[in-house]
Amino acid sequence: MHELSIAQSIVDSVREHAAGHVGRRVLRVGVRVGEISGVNADALEFCFGMTVKDTDLDGVGLDLERVAVRYRCLDCAHEFPPVDFRAVCPSCRSEMASMIAGEELALSYLELE
Ligand SMILES: [Zn+2]
Repeated sequence: MHELSIAQSIVDSVREHAAGHVGRRVLRVGVRVGEISGVNADALEFCFGMTVKDTDLDGVGLDLERVAVRYRCLDCAHEFPPVDFRAVCPSCRSEMASMIAGEELALSYLELE
């Protein structure tokens, strides 16, 4: 199950960040999960709970923020969501766009005591 290794790497980076705040307990962790990151949010939540169980991070809340796919037009810099899976700029009709959101899987915040 690949969500388990993702949960493990989230826990690793939480510890890394928390190490800079000695003596403060982590209460909540925010993670941005892109719509097409290939991660199953429910499975990730489950695996995260399993990974932190009986550790110092047991009971830490996990806040998964689903991030929709967005594109930025390379011609006019307009940002827009795809329509019918196609990235055509609604502002100038250009078909040259790069994806700027939707694939990410990243820590967004740590709430400390
Ligand atoms: Zn455009």
